[in-house]
Amino acid sequence: MSTPTNRDAGEPAAPSHFVRDIIREDLATNRFDGRVHTRFPPEPNGYLHIGHAKSICMNFGLAKEFGGKCNLRFDDTNPSKEETEYVESIIEDVRWLGFDWEDRLFYASDYFDQLYEWAVQLIKAGNAYVCDLSADEMREYRGTLTEPGRESPYRNRSVEENLELFERMRAGEFPDGSRTLRAKIDMSSPNLNMRDPVMYRIVHAEHHRSGNKWCIYPMYDFTHGQSDSIEGITHSICTLEFEDHRPLYDWYIEQLGIYHPRQIEFARLNLDYTVLSKRKLLTLVQKGYVSGWDDPRKPTISGIRRRGYTPEAIRNFCERIGVAKFNGIIEYSLLEHFVREDLNKTSLRAMAVLRPLKVVIDNYPEGQVEELEAINNPEDPSAGTRKVPFSRVFYIEQDDFREDPPKQYYRLSPGREVRLRYAYFVTCTGVVKDPATGQVVELHCTYDPASKGGNSPDGRKVKSTIHWVSAAHAVEAEVRLYDKLFTCENPNDESDGQEWTSHLNPNSLELIPDAKIEPCLAAAPPGSRYQFERLGYFTVDRDSTPEKRVFNRTVQLRDTWAKIEKSQKGKR
Ligand code: ATP
Ligand code: MG
Repeated sequence: MSTPTNRDAGEPAAPSHFVRDIIREDLATNRFDGRVHTRFPPEPNGYLHIGHAKSICMNFGLAKEFGGKCNLRFDDTNPSKEETEYVESIIEDVRWLGFDWEDRLFYASDYFDQLYEWAVQLIKAGNAYVCDLSADEMREYRGTLTEPGRESPYRNRSVEENLELFERMRAGEFPDGSRTLRAKIDMSSPNLNMRDPVMYRIVHAEHHRSGNKWCIYPMYDFTHGQSDSIEGITHSICTLEFEDHRPLYDWYIEQLGIYHPRQIEFARLNLDYTVLSKRKLLTLVQKGYVSGWDDPRKPTISGIRRRGYTPEAIRNFCERIGVAKFNGIIEYSLLEHFVREDLNKTSLRAMAVLRPLKVVIDNYPEGQVEELEAINNPEDPSAGTRKVPFSRVFYIEQDDFREDPPKQYYRLSPGREVRLRYAYFVTCTGVVKDPATGQVVELHCTYDPASKGGNSPDGRKVKSTIHWVSAAHAVEAEVRLYDKLFTCENPNDESDGQEWTSHLNPNSLELIPDAKIEPCLAAAPPGSRYQFERLGYFTVDRDSTPEKRVFNRTVQLRDTWAKIEKSQKGKR
């Protein structure tokens, strides 16, 4: 079933934001001949995270909305930090989010020849020079925000000398760091990016694509704008830190006399209780704080995918948070809200008991098994029903029994009657304790055979409904419960002198080794998602095998209790 798009209705699909407004305005004035062409330009030096998802959704989303195109381009100018593993993960992640670049997968490294020619062009025009200052010296010459820089002693080399030296840099005659090619702009510019920025550096390193063809590499700033130009990008959407680089990109493009895209900056996404910096995400992996880039606690796309988040939920979240011109922090719970909202509609229900307590129904025939009918998804009648085996001995959650129930506790306790979901009304008649520890290890109950299906036989009410799993049919599983990765709202804030890693939550992972799950879950393939009734949403982990099943908790149910009561009422 498809919902009408904005364009069908002649109206924008979502509440507008300034980037969309700019594109609309450019379409109205025919600035780019009616074209909309965006790109998502990651550097393959790490895995993508939820912040990147915002950029992906915006670039691909706007292109789609306006009937345009969006490229996927790797800005791979730094051979020492980039790897094919990252390229592959990024491709997988963008695809998983639901976007398609068709045949437009590009690499900035494919433009190295063209960029080299452009560098030569700038040298010939007297706009670039080879500089012999070391990195430290260059920093010193650069000046500060309040002091102008000083001109390099090599700034006035002749065009011929520059051409010859640049050619020799390319030929590999000089060691790393000994020389650079710099743009000749303005050492007293108030914008530090304009103080004769480096265009090329010498790096004798193998590149993940161009191999050993090059030992000089263009700087990101000499690559990014021209790559957009080559691809005919209309709107170069990037994050706010590039606002100060825009005059430089403009300068290169004007000096070269090539096609000029329009750059638009927006605020990056920040989330509370986590970090969204590639450097920090890499540290977490390298120092072993998490199991890998796709650890379900990480805000990486691969992490949240493994955790059970859906692409739909992430796209809805990105649409909802909109696009701003100033940085802020979004609550992680908002993301969880969209995950729940989507999973509620789409995931099948099942019963699982995480911390089992054995229950025996004394008046239920020994050896009898009934197949009781259970609803797969109350939100989606087309999901149908399934049969759940019920027998004399089953498990409930330890939490669902209290020997001395406090006020407001309506679940099982001695003498109390409750409903077993889809099964029967049962009353607790006895408690067995471990003589050594005094811990309750088994309950005895009686059931009312007239209450089959969990329906009241005579209008008498019970105040609670609990879930269960038949002991003889239960399948064992390991369940991994996740909590926030950091204990403080903004671990990035180190102004109190505490390092960001000091805020890692030591209890962010709790392992439940021997949960009991409904038999219908036994063969669920990795990646499938369920709601365990009353417990939350869970997904089968990629570690799961037929011998050892492993589930991740995706997100907790918020108002579990009210919901079950409501759906029971709906049934009666
Ligand atoms: P690096 O520090 O390595 O450059 P980066 O996070 O900027 O890290 P890129 O690979 O350069 O990573 O990012 C690709 C695109 O995603 C860029 O256009 C960047 O502006 C955008 N992006 C990165 N982080 C965020 C974020 N938190 N919110 C929104 N967009 C982001
Ligand atoms: Mg970047």
